[in-house]
Amino acid sequence: MTSTPTTPDDTPADQSRGDAAEPSAAIDSVVVPDDTAPAEDTGPKRVAVIVAHPDDAEFLCAGTVARWAGEGHHVTYVLLTSGDKGSSDPAVTPEQLVATREAEQRDACDVLGVADVIFLRHPDATLVPDLAMRREITRVIRQVRPDIVICQDPTVRFVGQDYLNHPDHRATGEATLDAIYPAARDRMTFPELLAEGLEPHKVREVYLGGAKEPDVWVDITATLPKKLESLRRHVSQMGDWDPEEMVRRWAKDEAEQHPGNGEYVEGYKYFKLD
Ligand SMILES: [Zn+2]
Repeated sequence: MTSTPTTPDDTPADQSRGDAAEPSAAIDSVVVPDDTAPAEDTGPKRVAVIVAHPDDAEFLCAGTVARWAGEGHHVTYVLLTSGDKGSSDPAVTPEQLVATREAEQRDACDVLGVADVIFLRHPDATLVPDLAMRREITRVIRQVRPDIVICQDPTVRFVGQDYLNHPDHRATGEATLDAIYPAARDRMTFPELLAEGLEPHKVREVYLGGAKEPDVWVDITATLPKKLESLRRHVSQMGDWDPEEMVRRWAKDEAEQHPGNGEYVEGYKYFKLD
């Protein structure tokens, strides 16, 4: 969420960091099925993007989402809040803002080819990564059953001298990672979910967007226009500001710092889980 069009709250983490440890080939396990992989590893995958606010995912990973959706993977968005504090207009109520921002998020998802959007509707700017939040995200993971989760990096507290990361971003990243491992996976954790008929589920791959230490980069050169268009659908947040110059520069800078991954890229800290 962001109240001032010229200062969106979703600046990526320090892009100067992140030594090229893992090649972007890790991505290819997603988008280019390996002939030697077991049958269950080929074909369309299920991807869940779990973030705090409307527009977070567009800043973090929309190029990747558009690419994967275009390649036939099934993408579900999960938003912890509907961004009801994201306006400084005294004439707008939180309830009105929820309706506006959910509609904008659905529009952005239509641009990107996202199949489903789940709004958990917690109040904006109040998220705490407690057990209740971990249970709720665990429930969603067991329902959606994603192979891959993209979420926010909970270790990013601040960047440079001009960016304090939003506490909701950190809380969402923290609770999501704790839900992926071990809660969603372990049968005896949150037995009330089992009683609801929700069997344990293993997420196989995790991508942290806006990461402090990215080690995988996705080429978004072909889908950058869709990323920009999806951002523009967040009309209440963009105002008269066009995100193109800044977003294009971020993706170009990231690519130049990690050559060989494409002209424009999105970077992630990547995990492959057993
Ligand atoms: Zn946000």
